[in-house]
Amino acid sequence: MIDFRSDTVTRPCHAMRKAMANAEVGDDVYGDDPTVNGVQQKVADMFGTEAALLVPSGTQSNLIALLSHCQRGDEYIVGQEYHTYLYEAGGAATLGGIVPQPLPVEADGSLFLDKIQSSIKPDDVHFAKTRLLSLENTHNGKVVPPEYINSAIQLARDNQLLCHLDGARLFNAAIASGRSVPSLVKGFDSVSVCFSKGLGAPVGSMLCGNYNLIEQAKRWRKMLGGGMRQAGIVAAAIDFALENNIHRLKEDHENALLLAELLSEIGNIRVNPPQTNMVYIEFDSEVDTQKIARKLRQKNILISASRRTRLVTHLNISEQDIEKFVYELRQLMRIN
Ligand SMILES: *Cc1c(COP(=O)(O)O)cnc(C)c1O
Repeated sequence: MIDFRSDTVTRPCHAMRKAMANAEVGDDVYGDDPTVNGVQQKVADMFGTEAALLVPSGTQSNLIALLSHCQRGDEYIVGQEYHTYLYEAGGAATLGGIVPQPLPVEADGSLFLDKIQSSIKPDDVHFAKTRLLSLENTHNGKVVPPEYINSAIQLARDNQLLCHLDGARLFNAAIASGRSVPSLVKGFDSVSVCFSKGLGAPVGSMLCGNYNLIEQAKRWRKMLGGGMRQAGIVAAAIDFALENNIHRLKEDHENALLLAELLSEIGNIRVNPPQTNMVYIEFDSEVDTQKIARKLRQKNILISASRRTRLVTHLNISEQDIEKFVYELRQLMRIN
């Protein structure tokens, strides 16, 4: 199957599985797993933070960050299409009593600074206590402008707010912008990063921050059921991904550009130029996208069937796969 639905569909390669099988392990809830400890330190060093904590998913990582920063009745400011607000089942509100203040997301993935400023509540019994600004990078495959991020952090600081970054695909942002990871996360109080997407590990995310935050985070992780025992098996896959799969994200970005270029030559599709590994396309309204997706599936190609569709490149998609997909799609659009 050539699967364009997401980079979460990537499968661990043989060498990664071998590294997992050979991992030295211990009980990580006791802090005894040498592989986990080593990879947590490695990620902390890569991000320029004091510590990092292995967690099962990006959703849990973001939730732990929110729970660690905010008390019941506190408020976080967030983009209304950001993952921490829209795609995490309302966890912060449901489990933490943390009030979301969603704001519209601008075309470049940012939140307008004056909208952030005007949504910060005064210290008054009528209001929730505004406590945290939560940003996202990349957002829908876009690298949020680094200068903007610095201004947003400064605004937050001026108003005594903490800052969290959902950096699920931060390595894509680093590769695409040519900036270092520490420079992209500087000033945040916590950063979440996923290894189960373009980096190709089967599972796992990390939350990065200072010692104090990570100590609190460990308690929340245990409460949420995320304390894992011989987690070195997972950490070994992450280590393999860090060593082998970061530099090759460039290929995914080049493949996304190729895909966008070839698709733009087909009629009845609008194509947004990609910055990283995601190509957003829109089929004209007369196109039967359900039928297109069904027909593609018969050719072993998977796409999400909707008028506005996200196509994602990753390590299990080659240039040849892209050419095959565009060829098949062109045939289908002709007879549609
Ligand atoms: C995928 C994703 C997450 C959550 O990761 P899971 O491991 O799927 O829970 C968080 N934020 C963003 C922006 C994501 O794309």
